[in-house]
Amino acid sequence: MSGAATPRLAVSGLRVSFAAGLWGRRVAVDDVSLQLAPGEVLGLIGESGSGKTTVARAALGLIPADAGQVLLDGVAMPAAGAARRAWRRGAQLVLQDPDGMLNPGLTASEHLIESARLHPGEGGGPVERAEAMAEAMGLSARLQALPGELSGGERRRLGLGRVLLASPRLIVADEPTAGLDAHRKAELLDLLLAGRGAQGRAVLLISHDLPLVAWACDRLLVMVQGRVVEGFPARRLGQLPHHPFTAAALRAAGRPTPGHALNPEAEPSPRGCALARRCAGATARCTEETPPLTDRGDAHLLACHHPSAP
Ligand code: SF4
Repeated sequence: MSGAATPRLAVSGLRVSFAAGLWGRRVAVDDVSLQLAPGEVLGLIGESGSGKTTVARAALGLIPADAGQVLLDGVAMPAAGAARRAWRRGAQLVLQDPDGMLNPGLTASEHLIESARLHPGEGGGPVERAEAMAEAMGLSARLQALPGELSGGERRRLGLGRVLLASPRLIVADEPTAGLDAHRKAELLDLLLAGRGAQGRAVLLISHDLPLVAWACDRLLVMVQGRVVEGFPARRLGQLPHHPFTAAALRAAGRPTPGHALNPEAEPSPRGCALARRCAGATARCTEETPPLTDRGDAHLLACHHPSAP
């Protein structure tokens, strides 16, 4: 990423909490910062409940944040009106389950034409652009089908086609390939990532599938219990003294990687490192001090008091 260029997305100091019980609040995301350059693909990985979906929704202005700043091309989301709608159009969400975005009474063709009408662009009128998108999504033969008549993979491609017709500058994709076989995963990711070079579209790809995300992304951020605990260029996966969570995820994916064993049954620690009760390498320091996210050089960020050697 060029140091001088304005990031496509810049999130700093993001904190999000939710009501818990009568008077309490549960912190879901704590002090998360990230940046995406135009054309960059950043993977956000972590186990279920780690806060990655909350980061995505707060970054798109879909849920309120307690603290922090989100800038899209250097601009915070306007408070209301046409400017707010335009800001939101520039940053689109792609979900694992597109059904909430699809009208069961509209054909695939009508969905695409509607999106093309709402978001005028180059390449002809709404019908021409919709047909071109249907072809790119492999849906030309299914244009008259209703969502209920499409397969799960076809519905995802239809949902993605609608999003791409808006020509967003940023796509946040939340588990877009979950439940698909390997071939369909690669196909959908190819479609999702097309256009980032020419249009400079950035993609924030959220998943718990570490090998897949490493294949698709330029950089990875790893979240544990609402915090970023590691960040590094995707090509360096497996070559670094990784955070114990990252190392465990690599081992779970069949790649032998040194790192402290983690007990999946143990509860998060209320103080210090969230993994202090789960991690075989935990010391007294781990239970008392939250490890800060530290720059170890060569674009490697790590929050762990005792990382393993690679
Ligand atoms: S800080 Fe300590 S408990 Fe946390 S992951 Fe590192 S070694 Fe394990």
